[in-house]
Amino acid sequence: MSLERAIELACEKPMPRRTEHIPLDAAHNRILAVGLHSKVDDPRFDNSAMDGFAVRASDCDEAGARLHIVGTSKAGGQDLPTVEAGEACRIMTGARVPDGADAIVMVEDTEVLGESVSINGPARTNFIRRRAENLARGQEALPTGALLGPAELALAATMGHGEIEVAVKPRIAIISTGDELVRAGDELAEGQIYESNSHALASLVEEMGCEANRLDSAPDSLDELRKTLDSLTGHDAIITSGGVSMGDWDLVRRLMEEEGELVFWRMKVRPGGPPLFGTWKGTPLFGLPGNPVSSQVIFHILLAPWIQHSLGAHPELGPRLSRQVRVRLKNSVKGAEDKLCLRRIRITSEGDELVGSVHTHQGSGNLHSLVAHDGLTLLPPGTDAEAGDFVDALWLR
Ligand code: AMP
Ligand code: MG
Repeated sequence: MSLERAIELACEKPMPRRTEHIPLDAAHNRILAVGLHSKVDDPRFDNSAMDGFAVRASDCDEAGARLHIVGTSKAGGQDLPTVEAGEACRIMTGARVPDGADAIVMVEDTEVLGESVSINGPARTNFIRRRAENLARGQEALPTGALLGPAELALAATMGHGEIEVAVKPRIAIISTGDELVRAGDELAEGQIYESNSHALASLVEEMGCEANRLDSAPDSLDELRKTLDSLTGHDAIITSGGVSMGDWDLVRRLMEEEGELVFWRMKVRPGGPPLFGTWKGTPLFGLPGNPVSSQVIFHILLAPWIQHSLGAHPELGPRLSRQVRVRLKNSVKGAEDKLCLRRIRITSEGDELVGSVHTHQGSGNLHSLVAHDGLTLLPPGTDAEAGDFVDALWLR
């Protein structure tokens, strides 16, 4: 199964899509469910881009012209004078341009002499920000599916929306499986190790704008696992880690094969070959491999696009946790015969290109390789890359 086909199949079984109205204050990192149309023109009225004087440009053709000051226009002010020939009105940035004026002289180019002002620089019409030049009332400026980051939230506010309709945050259960796993900080008995995958997966789920319910790990027992999965079916999705390979104790796979609805098992990627996807009593379930690097890599390439699709994210949004870039490799990178190869690289900028370098060994159990790097190569099946070659990569974070 190729990555593309796996994403396609998973996207045929998205999480249920619900929407809710929430205040703008709570909307950071959410997905807009209904596009937003502006309630106002932006700017609402012709206003000054400079502190200075609003004038008639034709009065200022001669250097040193003297104009009579008829009043002041400040941001938020009302009751403006009209500017007639031979007159000027003091004006502040963002303040409404009074009727009659058609240009602004910046304050640095003026000298006030009692009741009048000497104009010592150009009167510019382009210092006036025109009504609706950014946005006309009724215009849709944020489409359905927009991800609400800082700029989008400010734009929603500019358009007058104090409350908006967004996709409800899905609740996703995260459970590791393995008799060897112990919660970090607890006592370790012989043969046991600290459980780590669920911490990475929970924070990835949250970064995707979902609610993570991280549970303590489940033992390698078919009965226990069945009971645990049954107890999680109230969630919008379940993510397990471990137990999906070919080993005798890989019970997530066995349970899904025998009692679940398995959609696919195994993908042609390295690391992270054995993930599975299906539903457990109607709830979408991703079984991620237990190797710590693999579980995170599979989240980035498979789960992230699936969650985005489920949330109704705009197709042009691109991957949320990563960005596809082209990098020149500093080191040679060995590919995999028939698999998409996701080596970890650190991406930096050098001169006018991005470069990718390898800093640690690449074992799928070496978590430090994900800390020391911030990118994944997308080496097509059957290709090796030499130092100096350009390759596609995902830039994480
Ligand atoms: P599995 O996929 O269950 O065969 O696990 C593969 C490897 O990953 C084994 O070395 C496990 O001990 C390790 N592993 C599995 N799950 C976790 C976890 N949640 N945290 C840390 N290591 C794990
Ligand atoms: Mg295991």
